Amino acid sequence: MDRQTKTVHTQQMNPDSYGALNMPVYNSAAFGFPTAKSMADAFVGRTNAPTYSRVTNPTVTFFEERVKDLSGAQNVFAFNSGMAAISCTLLALAASGKNIVTSAHLFGNTVSLLKNTLGRFGVETRFIDLLDCEAVANAIDDNTACLFLEIITNPQLEVADLRMLASAAHQHNVPLVADTTIIPFTQFSAASLGVDIEVLSSTKYISGGATSLGGLVIDYGHFPQLYRTMKFELLYNIGSYMTPQVAFMQTNGLETLDLRYRVQADNALELARRLRQVPEITNVNHIGLTDNKFHQLATEQFGGTYGAMFTIDLEDKQKCFDFIDNLQLISRATNLFDSKSLAIHPASTIFGAFAGSQRRAMNVRDTTVRLSIGMESVDDIYNDIVQALTK
Ligand SMILES: *Cc1c(COP(=O)(O)O)cnc(C)c1O
Repeated sequence: MDRQTKTVHTQQMNPDSYGALNMPVYNSAAFGFPTAKSMADAFVGRTNAPTYSRVTNPTVTFFEERVKDLSGAQNVFAFNSGMAAISCTLLALAASGKNIVTSAHLFGNTVSLLKNTLGRFGVETRFIDLLDCEAVANAIDDNTACLFLEIITNPQLEVADLRMLASAAHQHNVPLVADTTIIPFTQFSAASLGVDIEVLSSTKYISGGATSLGGLVIDYGHFPQLYRTMKFELLYNIGSYMTPQVAFMQTNGLETLDLRYRVQADNALELARRLRQVPEITNVNHIGLTDNKFHQLATEQFGGTYGAMFTIDLEDKQKCFDFIDNLQLISRATNLFDSKSLAIHPASTIFGAFAGSQRRAMNVRDTTVRLSIGMESVDDIYNDIVQALTK
């Protein structure tokens, strides 16, 4: 069955009493059982009957099943934010005395999770330049819990060479965990590039117009420890499972994901091409532009699609602030892949608490504005950008 057909035809586990065509929202904390035996079976995992919504809920399971269908993964877990998905994955794989090898170019909260939170519990993080093959190979050892990366870094827009990094990790039997938030998991096969576990913020493309926070762990089953720890320990002990209302919204988001993504990614590439001709803009960083240094690798890995986020550089920080203040259509907001276009100055917001030297080391520049492109007409977005630059 074609993917788009599958997306809207995931089977419900049990027929709904009223024949509801949409999976209903099961707003119930607990679920009842006909017998003590069936209750015992469910509690120890001999059956899949839901018990308590901190660990299983039919509406959330339905969302997870739909993602499983679309990704071909062995296990899928839904959480109430991208950060919850990332922290539970790292909690499942790491332990005191272990290390995590990753890039210094990561989502800010992920850096803090690694450095501060996991650091307090004796997990060492090795921040390596993942573009340096040899450095990565040297950093991985017998105590490495995982190699963690983002497929495209934000806001630098560096593309990780997944096959190369997977091979470095697998030489030591270490899982490659990839944050694939920036390109929807339906657009390319991370597993075929060597990724063992995908983590992502479903707040972004999947939620369907930024309706809700959510996160996914898409597990291809190569490291069984992940499933066991997640299923029988972390869902219970951490309590950050997705809620049924959110699962309902995000299930619907999935139905239109590819349609929305195509419009947003096409808009972004067309805009990047046009904005190169605008004299006030000193640089356009979009990996879909053929002379971008990551263009070829991105094309090979992601099948000719490049996401809906890119950055532009202006002369200085003041010019960036003036530009952002002058925008009329594009919203001043963080977040990515809303249906509406968004603009932000990363250096003073997302990385505002970092020291200048730290920002320089991360290549987060004062001259950069990040744009997340929505579903408006490309002419309207372009006109708003040009009027804001020239006002
Ligand atoms: C937004 C984002 C996250 C965190 O997701 P939340 O849903 O906000 O918790 C993690 N990684 C990347 C790449 C993101 O863009």
